[in-house]
Amino acid sequence: MPIFIRKLGIDLGTANTLVFVPGLGVVLNEPSVVAVSEQDKKVLAVGLEAKEMIGRTPDNIVAYRPMKDGVIADYRVTEAMLRYYLNKALGKWNIFKPEVMVSVPAGVTSTERRAVIEATIKAGAKNAYVVKEPILAAIGAGIPIYEAKGHMVVDIGGGTTDVAVISLGGIVSSTSIKCAGDKIDKAIADFIKKNFNLAIGDKTAEEVKIVIGSAVPVEEEEKYSVKGRDLLTGLPRTIEISTNQVVAALDNELKQIVRAIKDVFQETPPELAADIIDQGITMTGGTSQLKNLQELIFRKTGVKSILADNALFCVAHGTGVALEHLDTYKKSISSKR
Ligand code: ADP
Ligand code: MG
Repeated sequence: MPIFIRKLGIDLGTANTLVFVPGLGVVLNEPSVVAVSEQDKKVLAVGLEAKEMIGRTPDNIVAYRPMKDGVIADYRVTEAMLRYYLNKALGKWNIFKPEVMVSVPAGVTSTERRAVIEATIKAGAKNAYVVKEPILAAIGAGIPIYEAKGHMVVDIGGGTTDVAVISLGGIVSSTSIKCAGDKIDKAIADFIKKNFNLAIGDKTAEEVKIVIGSAVPVEEEEKYSVKGRDLLTGLPRTIEISTNQVVAALDNELKQIVRAIKDVFQETPPELAADIIDQGITMTGGTSQLKNLQELIFRKTGVKSILADNALFCVAHGTGVALEHLDTYKKSISSKR
């Protein structure tokens, strides 16, 4: 029997787009990529299919990341992307137009927010709701956001690191920097290029990060074989890299992330800062899973941090919770019915 979906939430991330259906969980998880033809700007493919086109297609196809750096770069492409996800999640038998909640970056203007709402309606939603991403991340991580208490959420994704202090359902202070997983991958690739004369791909750099990466030096290092192209001979070559070399490679990027947290603390009223010291920082997003990152943040700020359960899914989960309790969260929601 088909299941009719009446409500769904979309986490438009810089790296991955997730679709969440209350009761079912995350039903779709695909790269936030759209392939567009260069001449007539037609949208050719979205998601996984578009990602596979990158680097393997003729020059007249461009791969877009519509959410690059956490801002919506192109609304027409965003609408196409929303339409693709709605259709794919709903299937052709779904006779209802769904209510759709979409996450937006904390820094969007009210005009941009309205544009996302319009794009969602055009893409086939009955009602469209948008909520700022740090609020959704907090809801998804189980934080009671309407408490008169300060909570800090640090979401480190692919393109951006977002730091926000939330109290009474609103964002009290926040920042967003364009330094997160992608920049960390690039730093690893640059390090290997400089120290080993070896060119490696983005995917390889990401593997190194996930498998042996760490935010602080470790005593028992792990090793990883990295295949690439020798920059002098042009031939394939394999090298071995170990954990503490990766730690050194990440130094600059991790400093920027720590700096962002410190900057937000500086703008946070002392009472709320005290709450955060008591409860710890909540960490969400894929890159928050980098090994020993919590330890690094503690060493640099003196504040504990806790990796949320299902860190990759917090925003998506938050859209689902907010959709099911629209009344509870109405103060944080912009909408069109
Ligand atoms: P966004 O919300 O910006 O789409 P995500 O929260 O989906 O981003 O996180 C994607 C990033 O998380 C990628 O850079 C990916 O390499 C990174 N990532 C995923 N798992 C891990 C891990 N175990 N350790 C470190 N980084 C990780
Ligand atoms: Mg995200």
